[in-house]
Amino acid sequence: MHDILNYSLADFFFNDNRNVLRPPTDFTNWIENPKVKHGYSFFEQQLLSAPRVATEILSNLDHKKRSIINLTSYNYLGLSTHPEVIAAAKEGLDKYGLGASGAPLLSGTFDLHVKFSRMLAEFKQKEDCLLYSSGFGGNVGAIQGLMRKGDVLILDEKCHKSLIDGGTLAQVKMLFFEHNNVASLEQMLEKNKDKRVLVVVEGVYSMDGDLVDLPNITRVCEAYDAPIYIDEAHSTLMFGKHGRGVAEHFNLEDKIGISFGTLSKSFGGVGGFVCSSADTIRYLKGYSSPWNFSCAPSPGVVAGLIKALEVATRDSSLRDRMWENVAYLKKGLISMNLDLGGSESQVIPIIIGPSGEKLMTLAEQMQKRGLFLQPVDFPAVPAHARRFRISVSSQLTRDEMDRTLNIIDDVVAKGLHT
Ligand code: PLP
Repeated sequence: MHDILNYSLADFFFNDNRNVLRPPTDFTNWIENPKVKHGYSFFEQQLLSAPRVATEILSNLDHKKRSIINLTSYNYLGLSTHPEVIAAAKEGLDKYGLGASGAPLLSGTFDLHVKFSRMLAEFKQKEDCLLYSSGFGGNVGAIQGLMRKGDVLILDEKCHKSLIDGGTLAQVKMLFFEHNNVASLEQMLEKNKDKRVLVVVEGVYSMDGDLVDLPNITRVCEAYDAPIYIDEAHSTLMFGKHGRGVAEHFNLEDKIGISFGTLSKSFGGVGGFVCSSADTIRYLKGYSSPWNFSCAPSPGVVAGLIKALEVATRDSSLRDRMWENVAYLKKGLISMNLDLGGSESQVIPIIIGPSGEKLMTLAEQMQKRGLFLQPVDFPAVPAHARRFRISVSSQLTRDEMDRTLNIIDDVVAKGLHT
């Protein structure tokens, strides 16, 4: 291991230690190396208050409390701390207690779960909806519940790990088409036209912030009679006239077989949901293990989420503010000649390049100046395109955006261009 920084988690997946509880020796040497340790210190830093834009962390760099501008949380609309949402959640907690204390099928379904599922189904214009206690579990559970050995899951190569893990659990064959490349998708559909297939895409891709090419993907899928699963984790409440997501944005909601969303990002809570036809949801209830064999979402959280959906959809003010902030920040970043990839959303990458060391140095300098921007390293993103990722919030004030742009200009733009 001469150049320790050339290694990453991608190198230690396989372990030939006879004792499975003993990690590979190379892994231990690597992760205990001071330079690697320093890189890791940017992760799992403790937030000391709510995930607002102006918040406080206990910094792993020097173990000191630091007031920071937080551009890493997915609390895009500020709903996690919205006063009406918090009041509703408190009321829910008082009435229903802390947890559901049971799986949905047996004893964990409360009137709140039924109400919220109906609200979500109506919102997404589907017949029914299944609520999961995590977004990750929702993706795994929907795919594992519907697909069987011998089926083919065709995913965009940039799809989230939860979608891939669903395929692994279902023991299906998985094929990855080139990102947003319809010709690549079509080839796979043609080769597997005698098989049961499901095509999986995301509304907004979470590391790049670009949108799915839904018009062309739906056209090709329709030609092959292939159902589409869309993960709208980063696009629900963000896109479309009514905030229903990227499928609404493209006016293609009727072409979507299953619409997935998470409740942990723009909704500000935790959980996941899957909307589809009543038949599909009824079948899933029988076979989707993360729903069937796991405790239902906490009723207090669901009470808050019901209010969050009401607040976010009664008018477009929060969404409008967020888009104004996206435009303001993007304009500033573009003027610095930074590589923002193909971002078309509130997720804005700042692509730094191949040097992990540079990424960590810039992260440290930004944090010391009061800006909390998490580095995203290989293998989460390609090794040549390590990056920071900005999550824009409706809560950002003009002053916070100007301070953010100032820090990025001083640290990143000047750091990269000198
Ligand atoms: N799908 C996508 C595209 C995501 O980005 C995430 C989370 O980062 C998930 C699913 C899982 O959602 P959750 O974090 O709510 O479990």
